[in-house]
Amino acid sequence: MSAIPGKSCGSCNMCCQILDIVELKKDAGILCKNCVSGTGCKIYSTRPQVCQDFECEWLTERSLGPQLKPDKVGTLFMICPDSEQYQAVTDPKRPTAWRNPLVFKHLVAKAKEGHIVVAKSGVTSWRVYESGATALWT
Ligand code: SF4
Ligand code: SF4
Repeated sequence: MSAIPGKSCGSCNMCCQILDIVELKKDAGILCKNCVSGTGCKIYSTRPQVCQDFECEWLTERSLGPQLKPDKVGTLFMICPDSEQYQAVTDPKRPTAWRNPLVFKHLVAKAKEGHIVVAKSGVTSWRVYESGATALWT
């Protein structure tokens, strides 16, 4: 999958902050030391393969409009490579961002498509069901 034409990361650096990147010894929630505010990745041409390979769902899914861009809604959408869960990972500074009606509506729609949808905020996770119900998820 590759980025939909017309979409680009721009000033967003959510994945460089939110994700745990073993290759960089970077914990989840901490902005990568290679990320320069307003400029982006300072080692872009030599960034690790894991960074080169990562594209969030917003970047690759046509149905996700500009209003759902990760830095705008404080939520990164991704398919977990290990579990295949459809995950909504929130900005640590905006822990309830996944409950934003726009984000939540999208998560319910993904659940209706048959995905296991999980919203993650720090160490706490919730399953989001197609009915719109939620439950703590371990
Ligand atoms: S979260 Fe998505 S849009 Fe934002 S920088 Fe990462 S890949 Fe790009
Ligand atoms: S190395 Fe670059 S692309 Fe990778 S997380 Fe750090 S700032 Fe982002």
